[in-house]
Amino acid sequence: MSTPDPTGLAPGAVLGILGGGQLARMMALAAADLGVRAHIFAPEPDSPAFDVAARHTIGDYEDEAALARFADAVDVVTYEFENVPAATAAFLAARTPLHPGARALGLTQDRLNEKTFVAGLGLAVAPFRAVDSLADLEAAVGALGRPSILKTRRFGYDGKGQVKIAAETELSEAYEAIGHFPAILEGFVPFSREVSVVAARGIDGAFAAFDLCENEHRDHILAFTRVPARVSAPAALAAGEAARKIGAALGYVGVFAVEMFVVGESTDETVIVNEIAPRVHNSGHWTSEGAQTSQFHQHVRAVCGFPLGSAARRGRIEMENLIGDAGLRWRDLLAEPGAHLHLYGKRDARPGRKMGHVTRISPEAG
Ligand code: AMP
Repeated sequence: MSTPDPTGLAPGAVLGILGGGQLARMMALAAADLGVRAHIFAPEPDSPAFDVAARHTIGDYEDEAALARFADAVDVVTYEFENVPAATAAFLAARTPLHPGARALGLTQDRLNEKTFVAGLGLAVAPFRAVDSLADLEAAVGALGRPSILKTRRFGYDGKGQVKIAAETELSEAYEAIGHFPAILEGFVPFSREVSVVAARGIDGAFAAFDLCENEHRDHILAFTRVPARVSAPAALAAGEAARKIGAALGYVGVFAVEMFVVGESTDETVIVNEIAPRVHNSGHWTSEGAQTSQFHQHVRAVCGFPLGSAARRGRIEMENLIGDAGLRWRDLLAEPGAHLHLYGKRDARPGRKMGHVTRISPEAG
């Protein structure tokens, strides 16, 4: 046995994971590969991650007695979703290391704070205004014009909690539609593509970004990720640098994703930061077969204080999400040569529910 690194843990450690969905499931599998035992904490008794973890606790995120027992039983805590309540994060962080830390969590839970932070780093974001009333919305639309997008500051994902302000949209109805919650209005970005950087930052500040991913959404849900993204080399470089800057400014530990829009053409092509996800990300699922180190292994390495692995890519990649009934194609996909199928072990194939994904790799052209 090698001696444990003074900044980190050693194989045999217990990684606590908040959330029991597919991201936690794939993190637990990666942890097991590295000799790390996963302990999942989630409220739903049929959580997909329970099937593959050494231990699990069924509990509410507000249940302090259960959280305290969980914190005592693990060496470090991480999470698979960004809406971990701030009080839960603070409670756990007082008892055991929490990575990524409370600052990353707090900032990325609030679109206004997140955009203000990113803009403060000198990175491009869509023009935005805070909206706390209908009068604010009217003024913001006056300033940013139409089309624009009204988004709740908190608890939005996969296009939920947002409404497009088109030429004919009644502002009172739009404000009603997002439930009168504190919001921001964003100017509409006429993007050519949506891309993301999935990257990791270690406890020692080491940084490793996977190649830029190009993402295709359908009905606001990620449908395909293709790598490499079809963007100019300078724009791809700028995207990676933006992620490095964000990670460093947050003192981040773990894997994160930065979703961006590509705008402009040829030499004017550039990226605009849309949002940061403080966790492993669906657009990084291809790394399980398509990169030297998967995002899940990379995250476990980072939060345990292990050295990061190489993020080098292994070919041209297409990752397809299997949403709803698409999971029923499993037999055909297993019969397809070279297709790597992952199923998440969810029982009900509800519309819009992510049931699995498949990754296809082809050789790099010429
Ligand atoms: P979000 O919840 O911020 O990830 O937004 C969901 C989707 O809405 C994005 O993937 C884009 O397709 C679209 N979208 C969000 N913000 C903007 C914007 N400012 N301009 C244009 N499209 C946007």
